[in-house]
Amino acid sequence: MASHELLPRLVANGGQSSCHDYYFGDQSMSSELHWRLSILKAKGLILSGLSWRVGDGAQIPIKGSNWLLEEGHRRILSPLTNLPVDARVGELIHGSPPTWNIHKIQSLFLPYDVDAILKIPLSGRQQEDRLYWFDTQNGKYSVRSGYKLLCKDARAHIPESSRQWDPDPLWKRIWRARVPAKIKTFLWRACHDSLPTKSGLFKRQVTSNPFCDTCREQSEDSLHALWNCPAVSQVWSLAPEFSDLQKLAPMSLSDLMRQVIQSNSNLLFEKFAITSWLLWHKRNQDRLRLPSDPHSQILPRAHALLSEYLAVTTENKPQKPQPPQVRWKPPSSNLFKVNFDGAIFRDSNTGGLGVVIRDNTGMVIATLSQKVTGNHTVEMIEALAARRAIRFAMEVGVTNAEFEGDAETVIRDLCRTDPIYTPYGLVIEDAKVMLAEIQNFSLSHTRRSGNSVAHALARRASKCNSYLVWMEEVPPDITHVLLNDLSALAVE
Ligand SMILES: [Zn+2]
Repeated sequence: MASHELLPRLVANGGQSSCHDYYFGDQSMSSELHWRLSILKAKGLILSGLSWRVGDGAQIPIKGSNWLLEEGHRRILSPLTNLPVDARVGELIHGSPPTWNIHKIQSLFLPYDVDAILKIPLSGRQQEDRLYWFDTQNGKYSVRSGYKLLCKDARAHIPESSRQWDPDPLWKRIWRARVPAKIKTFLWRACHDSLPTKSGLFKRQVTSNPFCDTCREQSEDSLHALWNCPAVSQVWSLAPEFSDLQKLAPMSLSDLMRQVIQSNSNLLFEKFAITSWLLWHKRNQDRLRLPSDPHSQILPRAHALLSEYLAVTTENKPQKPQPPQVRWKPPSSNLFKVNFDGAIFRDSNTGGLGVVIRDNTGMVIATLSQKVTGNHTVEMIEALAARRAIRFAMEVGVTNAEFEGDAETVIRDLCRTDPIYTPYGLVIEDAKVMLAEIQNFSLSHTRRSGNSVAHALARRASKCNSYLVWMEEVPPDITHVLLNDLSALAVE
């Protein structure tokens, strides 16, 4: 498939005339302004929905283009004043097989960006960079997802990376906040007065007046919209932890946020962040006459969102091993079984890969436990585990193998023939290319309980520095997990 089929024509061709054709066919249009505006808006929209999948990095400008994987953080935010405008992502990659140049990356970027870069998967094959659409599963553009993106507040997107960086502790606190990336980005924009408030739009001559649409009394800057407007101020007054702050008269939103930080109470900044974000969201919904929660629901919603986020991002305490419902099954007689699994360690921003290769009597041929950098998504860590498992099997010299994992999506995508254009798809393709070199293989899905040794190996990676391999045995601390599988075999 030619790469342009991936994208709507207007992006592939660029240029005003092709935009015109894309939207309206060949019939000649009058030059009415609103048409042009909507075309330009749509073009901007489509460009904002595209991201680079890093291959060799040769085509991707480090500055100003979408190439990171996080929602709300697709572009580099570090100031990079010393970096030439045409510096390419390829300059951050070295070695063979290619890896991220961690030292260089750490010296150039702020920690927030460093984490986001190191989690981008690289392929061992020579790969060109390619654009993909990040709102669909397979990375292909669809009209439906384009429309969805258009419905999102187009202005609530990525901050300009060209902005001067201010080494203020406030920024550090924003990036450290335990809230989703999109909320950090929102706060950052609010502090830089780059939210599309009425006064901001008025300054840019987009609206005829700067006055708040809610109270119609004062000019609406971000401080007014999120803190001072009477309707909003009433919401804050319902939260006792903010009552002291309400007695102050901050000069600006960043001034207010500094006060929030100074109060030093647990998670106050996070509560402030999520509540502000919900208030801003409501304000936008109301402006567009779309349904929104009443003001009275904002605090309970903020509370629920915060607990939800903390629950997802906090390590679960290890539970007592439950008797497995699905047991590990040995491969058929002339095959080896390769189980793999991935784990995510949120607190250290790393992940783990675990692989175990066994023969048809359940005896271990080899095991691997590897740490990877970056806080990957579940899907990505499972794909990385699959790729590592196949490579490990080849390294060990296994040519007849049943590969088994507990992530259904990954197994399904490994069996699919149509390409996936996302960075996740790159890892899946790598895996498929290697699979093709294995004489005899099959792929299967099992439950977590049938994959417990690989799972334990992946979890164990949090303790190691890079990776560890054991031949014909498992590390002593997970022997009991292996014995569990073996005892199940003996019973049958
Ligand atoms: Zn107001």
